Amino acid sequence: MVAEQIAARGITDPRILRAMEVIPRHRFVPYTKPKNTYVDGPLPIGQGQTISQPYITAYMTELLQTEPDHRVLEIGTGSGYQAALLATLCKEVYSVEIIAAHSIRARKTLEDLQFKNVHLRLGDGRDGWPDAAPFDRILVTAAAKKKIPDALVDQLAEGGRMILPLGNTVHSQKLVVCARMKNQIIEEEDLAVRFVPLVTAGLTHLPKRLATS
Ligand code: SAH
Repeated sequence: MVAEQIAARGITDPRILRAMEVIPRHRFVPYTKPKNTYVDGPLPIGQGQTISQPYITAYMTELLQTEPDHRVLEIGTGSGYQAALLATLCKEVYSVEIIAAHSIRARKTLEDLQFKNVHLRLGDGRDGWPDAAPFDRILVTAAAKKKIPDALVDQLAEGGRMILPLGNTVHSQKLVVCARMKNQIIEEEDLAVRFVPLVTAGLTHLPKRLATS
């Protein structure tokens, strides 16, 4: 996966390539046979959500320009795979998810894999995580429709960088790089992408299948 889909397409950061070689992606993808979880595309993780294509995960992580001492906020925990990647590269990761079933499953996977520097919270990621702010980096893995949520801009540290998909429809989404420099916010468009939208109400109750297992 790393050689054919990621390094071959121009991702060069050796820390990201190494981390993606080591993190067992199949442990994060519940409904796909393990050998098929390394394919070049997004995969379902339940409740209509997907884990991003490995290349996009790598691309966004490279664009984020993380350092080992960074505290990072992720919005959209999903499977927990992106959080695991960030936790391998950075000091602390805070990740917010709006669907309870995802948050619970991600917590179990990350605990099983002995990640100790990932903090998960159930809630609306558009509010960020005010009591742990400011963050050196913010990565949003579901698309905002019209503008970057104000709380996320407020929680970005001086010199900080945020990456998010922005756009009204899946056909008009772009990755946006947002940087805070001397208290000014600079925004720049990057790749065209297709992400599920940020939603307002999640599935905060447990589906029967999980509640009984
Ligand atoms: N980063 C994930 C993939 C994200 S898919 C991974 O590595 O697997 C997008 C996720 O964002 C979904 O799990 C979805 O439930 C979540 N999401 C959507 N709207 C949200 C919101 N307002 N707040 C927090 N999470 C949200």
